[in-house]
Amino acid sequence: MQQVYGLLFEAYGEQHWWPGETPFEIIVGAVLTQNTAWVNVEKAIANLKSAHRLTLDALIGLDNDALAELIRPSGYFNIKARRLKSLCEFLHAGGGVSAFDRVPIAVLRKDLLGVHGVGRETADDILLYAYNRPVFVIDAYTRRIFSRLGLARGDEDYEVLRQGFEQALGPNVEQFSEYHGLIVRHAKDFCSKKPRCSGCCLAEICEFK
Ligand code: SF4
Repeated sequence: MQQVYGLLFEAYGEQHWWPGETPFEIIVGAVLTQNTAWVNVEKAIANLKSAHRLTLDALIGLDNDALAELIRPSGYFNIKARRLKSLCEFLHAGGGVSAFDRVPIAVLRKDLLGVHGVGRETADDILLYAYNRPVFVIDAYTRRIFSRLGLARGDEDYEVLRQGFEQALGPNVEQFSEYHGLIVRHAKDFCSKKPRCSGCCLAEICEFK
């Protein structure tokens, strides 16, 4: 895992992932990015910003239809509006975004997973990028790249993969953040559904090619 990280970092440099100016913007983005490309999330975030609704208090005051309209570019907008409202209500009931800063990881993760529409990847996006907790995010790109490399089967349970990365790397928020960003970058630039193995920085250690 460390070797792959080193090769990706050498090839791409810092990714500064996740894009977001505030923890709340990151939380909103974590829901909006479900089942869609990031470019669509950016449009929905821009709509929320220009409507001055990208704060917990402003967003919670919107009705679902108005929220759905603003986030329409992200797709599944009615479903995501309900999910966002549920997450906002959870945060609001707990005292606001920053009130969760000192909640232990396991407790916060369990509570997030209890919120309507928050699955493991979304919860871990929030934990890592909004709350700076050492939780490794597993997504479809991670499964694709590491199964091709021969370092995973690709169909493991989410928790098995997450714990595998966390144990191999040791708890490191900065590295986990960069690593996920590098995985996203590599999946887009080279290891797409139809991979471009020629020129890939991982080609020498990859079992797929
Ligand atoms: S060599 Fe090909 S399959 Fe392997 S990581 Fe690179 S792009 Fe993906």
